[in-house]
Amino acid sequence: MSSSATLCALHPERPAVGTCARCGAFFCEPETIRHGERAYCEACGRRPEVSYLEELRVRLWGKRDTWAWLMMLSAPAHVALCITMGLDGMWNWAVLAGADAVVVTAWFLGVRLARPALLLLPPAWMVGLLLKDREALHVVLLMAPPMALALAAFSSTRSQLFFRLEVDPGRLERLWEAHGNNPLASRALLCGLVGLLVPVAAPVAVLLGWAALRRVNPEAHPPVGKKAQALEAMMLGGLSMLGWTYLLVRLKLGLPLNPL
Ligand SMILES: [Zn+2]
Ligand SMILES: [Zn+2]
Repeated sequence: MSSSATLCALHPERPAVGTCARCGAFFCEPETIRHGERAYCEACGRRPEVSYLEELRVRLWGKRDTWAWLMMLSAPAHVALCITMGLDGMWNWAVLAGADAVVVTAWFLGVRLARPALLLLPPAWMVGLLLKDREALHVVLLMAPPMALALAAFSSTRSQLFFRLEVDPGRLERLWEAHGNNPLASRALLCGLVGLLVPVAAPVAVLLGWAALRRVNPEAHPPVGKKAQALEAMMLGGLSMLGWTYLLVRLKLGLPLNPL
């Protein structure tokens, strides 16, 4: 046996084919587990927290998110602005609007250069506006919302996955918490809030909250949480139902709605 060959940590008689993406141990071919493009040793690859986050990552890898579709939806407005400005002979603005259109389209198509380019657009407009009118310091405020949007799109985990960029496990975990972990509880809470304005949503919130609560299981793989959200939805729905019933009864009895 050659001493220079790297060997499997678990099976010293076999050559290693790679290192585990989680524990870093050398593993051999028969025990390799792949999730997407990452390889794990057998023990790590079967760990539920590895596989469900990996599954999420693979599912969203290269998939267009809301940001990508919003970029595409905004493209016609940029093109229209570009043409209007061009027809008016305002070339500086036409060029900026044209750059906007190119960047949002490139974003939608998944061109990675569009990410940093997007961050340059609001400052470019700001410089353009300030060059036109040096006193116009309010344009700094005007450009704050677009800059905030650009930063939000740039730093979104979903959008990084769409661009096929690696995201660390902590961010995947947060994405899972927000969207993958007991989504019924979030829907129940939304119903609870809607129930404050629309009576029929209140009982739905109680039912969904109850169903979500029954799903909660911290021992499951992956763990199912959001117990607090489910309880909040039920309480909110219950209180709304009480409130609406109270109003209805007073209306029926012909009493004034305000008891005071
Ligand atoms: Zn491992
Ligand atoms: Zn091995």
